[in-house]
Amino acid sequence: MYLHKVYVSLGSNLGDRVKYLQQAVLAMHDIKETHVTALSRIYETDPVGYTDQPLFLNACAALITSLSPIQVLDALLNIEHKLGRVRTFRNGPRTIDLDLLLYDDYVIDLRPSLTVPHPRMHERAFVLLPLCDVSTDLEHPTFHKPIAKLRASVSEKEGIRCYRTHLLNAYEPTGN
Ligand code: AMP
Repeated sequence: MYLHKVYVSLGSNLGDRVKYLQQAVLAMHDIKETHVTALSRIYETDPVGYTDQPLFLNACAALITSLSPIQVLDALLNIEHKLGRVRTFRNGPRTIDLDLLLYDDYVIDLRPSLTVPHPRMHERAFVLLPLCDVSTDLEHPTFHKPIAKLRASVSEKEGIRCYRTHLLNAYEPTGN
C-alpha cells in the first residue's frame, strides 16, 4: 500500500474554536487508511477578505494516507459537514474550514471541485506559518520555491500571532 503525504489547513472563527480544531483533528485521524502524523501550533489571525467577523484560529496537520486526492477531499468535506459548517458566503465565518493544501508533489486541476496545491496557499500567512511548523523542507509544486521562502515573503504577518503551542496535548509541533 503506497502512502501519500498530505497537508491540511484548519480554520475556525465561530463558537469554541479550539474545540472545533481538535474535533477536526480527531475526525481526520478516523479517516480510513489515514493517520495524522504532525500538528502545528494554533495561531490567532485577523480575518482576511471580509473583515467584519470574529478572529480566526488556524493550524495545519500533516497526514499520511493511501486514499486518492478526491477521497481525501470528500473526507474533509464530510468532517466540515459533521462539525456543523454552514456555507454563508466566500471568506465568511465558519465553525470549521479544512483545505487540502498539498498531496505529495501532485499538481491537480479539477476546477471547481479540487485544485492542489491550494490556489491561495502561497499568499496566506495563516496557512504558511502553521505549515512550516509541521514541515520545514517542503517545496511548492508549481512555483518550485521552498515553502519557508514563501513564508518569509508574505506580507500579512502582523495579523497573526501564536495562540497555543499545542493543538492536542498528545502532539508536539515538530520540525519534520
Ligand atoms: P471553501 O469555501 O474554501 O471551504 O471551499 C470549499 C470548496 O472548494 C469545495 O466545494 C471544494 O470542492 C473546493 N475546493 C477546490 N480545491 C480545494 C482544496 N484544495 N481544498 C479544499 N477545497 C477545495
